[in-house]
Amino acid sequence: MSLLIKNVLLEGRIVDVLIEANKIKQISQKSSAKAERVIDGTNKAIIPGLVNSHTHAAMTLLRGYGDDMNLMEWLQEKIWPIEAKLTAEDIYWGTKFACLEMIKTGTTCFHDMYWFPEAQHKAVEEMGMRAVLDYTFFDNNDKEKRKKVMEEAPGIIQRLHTKNPRIKMALGPHAIYTVSKEGLQWAMRFATEKGLLVHFHLCETKSEVDDCIKTHGKKPIPLLEEWGFLQPNLITAHSVWLDDEDIQILKKHDVKVVHNPTANMKLAIGKAFRFKQLQEAGLLIGLGTDGVASNNNLDMFEIMKIAALLQKFSYDDPTLLKAHEAFELATKNGYQILGIDAGTIEEGKLADLSLIDLDHPALIPLHNLASNIVYAGNGDCVDTVIIDGKVIMENRKVAGEEEIKKRFIKAVSRLT
Ligand SMILES: [Zn+2]
Repeated sequence: MSLLIKNVLLEGRIVDVLIEANKIKQISQKSSAKAERVIDGTNKAIIPGLVNSHTHAAMTLLRGYGDDMNLMEWLQEKIWPIEAKLTAEDIYWGTKFACLEMIKTGTTCFHDMYWFPEAQHKAVEEMGMRAVLDYTFFDNNDKEKRKKVMEEAPGIIQRLHTKNPRIKMALGPHAIYTVSKEGLQWAMRFATEKGLLVHFHLCETKSEVDDCIKTHGKKPIPLLEEWGFLQPNLITAHSVWLDDEDIQILKKHDVKVVHNPTANMKLAIGKAFRFKQLQEAGLLIGLGTDGVASNNNLDMFEIMKIAALLQKFSYDDPTLLKAHEAFELATKNGYQILGIDAGTIEEGKLADLSLIDLDHPALIPLHNLASNIVYAGNGDCVDTVIIDGKVIMENRKVAGEEEIKKRFIKAVSRLT
């Protein structure tokens, strides 16, 4: 399949972009290529797809179910009890609906930590998105639970990891307060051996750090280093409560970090992500929405803006986290963290991209595209989404939208 996008704006010039199979084959002025399909890119800008680097997709089912609470109270009283009732069917529709929302807001790839990987996989495969899905687990320091995970995970991971080249598997031990030392060490050993990523919540709140010191006599970062858990294939979410020493240790082990500004602000975790220090230390940083229960949507445009505003406001410096940097965290860095060759509009890259509607009122006038995207735009500005060379949304229409919505609402009412 070949696809030619004509007369589209790319970094200040009008070009034609030829996509062949799943890659960007050629970027040129006035292409003479004969493509099977032509899309008119007039008054549109072509940008790389956005990557949601930390989410719990099927939490769409719990949108607005519990708000305005403390993290632990929220998890223990609202989230964990209802999550205990989730079935594979719920996850399937919750994930499909999340994909729909992500596609409609220009996200082409996401990293998901949630339950029922087979149901997640089926949903993502059908929606045409690119994703890394975790085999997620807690062991709560329980030997039996851990044994079950260690028996079950390898088979599921092996089966799903190679099923579709768009969808990879990873290990998702939840956090230091829900997974034992043995559980974490097993996960890292297994992942390293198989060439998989590990996805982990880390240093989200002060109490997480304080409790770790109380229990283990050490802060989480030096402790995890001692346990051999800090490795280049580790991706940590949140990672707000870090001091300078922690940042140096993370850098030493080339750990990747994902910032989730909205969830941090909503749960009032008491500190802003230390973007400048992490960036200066040379760590690779991505952006994520976190789950919809703590966000409450999956619009990465919002996340770019909130991330930028949070830095400026918290550190009293309007020059921090500039528009083009926020855009890069959500595109190039997101793909790089996942080891996927996309995230920029360049020949040879995977064709994961979107066309932005430059007629949208929020994007007029066009002095600076990155500024418009990050500060003025929102997910509604996305007109067309292409993932792995396939048109997944055109004129804001996604195939099967109404049916997905209907089935999703049914799953929600069964659950609540
Ligand atoms: Zn999370």
